[in-house]
Amino acid sequence: MHNLSIKQQIKGIREKKFSAGELTQYYLDRIEKYNPKINAFITTHRDRSMDMANNIDLSIPSNKAPLLGIPVAHKDIFCTKGVRTTCGSKMLSNFISPYDATIVQSINDAGAVSLGKTNMDEFAMGSSNETSFYGNCLNPWDLTKVPGGSSGGSAASVAARLTPIATASDTGGSIRQPASFCGVTGIKPTYGRISRYGMIAFASSLDQAGFIARSAEDISYFLDAASVHDPKDSTSLNVVAEHTAKSIEDLPKEIKIGIMENQLAKHTDPRILEKLDDAIRLFSSIGIKVIPVKLPYSKLAIPTYYVIAPAEASSNLSRFDGVRFGYRSSESNTIDELYEKTRSEGFGSEVKRRILIGAYVLSAGFYDAYYLKAQKIRRLIAHDYNEAFKEVDLILSPTAPNLPFSFGEKSQDPISMYQNDAYTIGANLAGLPGISFPIGFIDQLPVGAQLVGKHLSEKLLLQVTYAFQKLSNYHDLVPKGFGD
Ligand code: GLN
Repeated sequence: MHNLSIKQQIKGIREKKFSAGELTQYYLDRIEKYNPKINAFITTHRDRSMDMANNIDLSIPSNKAPLLGIPVAHKDIFCTKGVRTTCGSKMLSNFISPYDATIVQSINDAGAVSLGKTNMDEFAMGSSNETSFYGNCLNPWDLTKVPGGSSGGSAASVAARLTPIATASDTGGSIRQPASFCGVTGIKPTYGRISRYGMIAFASSLDQAGFIARSAEDISYFLDAASVHDPKDSTSLNVVAEHTAKSIEDLPKEIKIGIMENQLAKHTDPRILEKLDDAIRLFSSIGIKVIPVKLPYSKLAIPTYYVIAPAEASSNLSRFDGVRFGYRSSESNTIDELYEKTRSEGFGSEVKRRILIGAYVLSAGFYDAYYLKAQKIRRLIAHDYNEAFKEVDLILSPTAPNLPFSFGEKSQDPISMYQNDAYTIGANLAGLPGISFPIGFIDQLPVGAQLVGKHLSEKLLLQVTYAFQKLSNYHDLVPKGFGD
């Protein structure tokens, strides 16, 4: 059953080849069997999932909801009503959300069945899932390697076929980089396309919810269901999003893809660039033109992001004070001590590092030199993309400069960890949509490529990725040790 596409699963349920209950049961059994190997889930709720699926079965055939009975896992950054939502942190280890995030609500309304909550870097800060309070999530392709981050649990759970699809979030690459590391497909939509309401905030001007699944086609069904205007999020786009699932096969003629002229190449594993050349050849073979483009300021994306994101994080995370919700230190005698101890004990070291950097770059004496400067460079980076999109429709690059690495290899050196985001951050700074998809293997580890498009070009991103996936089978491969 786990080899069926979402389209085939929807058809199977509609035609009563199997029930939503059987499909959910099947994935819950896989989670029980295989999750102990990879720790992709923080929370599961068997009874709740089965109730949802059984209710759907009772509503067939009159229920015409588009995702009828399709199981989904949620990154633990999304609030889920009545279910623990930890954001990978000790700080929220006891937090039961009283409401659903809009993305959760909209795909529930469309008939999806929730399987549980996936592991992630604490407050989505990290590129390896090693900052999670709930233990490392392992890469199903090689259990000694990281799955990427921060949505490591979402990517690993899809790769191991513990769920057909998972929600995820991307502030600087957290959907695309783990998708690349785990050999699956991940989309970060245009900023504002999917509501941020109920997604625990990291850096609000960069955060975007999206999906990780096996293929572009699988993603299209969920993206359509989640692309709703939400008055509860003031940055939610009020546009009628194009339907992607229906038109995924209609690849437009005369597409031009730009290759990022590679000032980042010297930090990139040359074997990854060779795989990218193979992908370029495949695109050329289906009539897509590939030409070089310049994005001169992209080399400043990492330092720019690592000023802006911590600045916003330091402000967003001030709400975790032990007073209103979440963890509270039991040892304080004064209100100051309560704040201090709660935050010292509740946050991990990467989160503390970001709060310190954020408070520093926003402080009176340094605001102009760091935060304001970074905002100006952000504008230049966005301008580079606008210029490039006068020449091309999409921009292709590796998703990450390196292969999945070993546990501990980068965790003592934050700067080398941050380098993982070199190719992905630009799209967040400019609010553009991006997709990562598998383009091959090196030493039995997956390699991903990234396409970035103009604002609201998700349909084209999915069409081009779909065309690639019709001619390649990397996305269909299941890691050894996780059943056939
Ligand atoms: N790896 C980046 C960071 O640590 C991006 C994280 C994300 O996209 N949530 O901030």
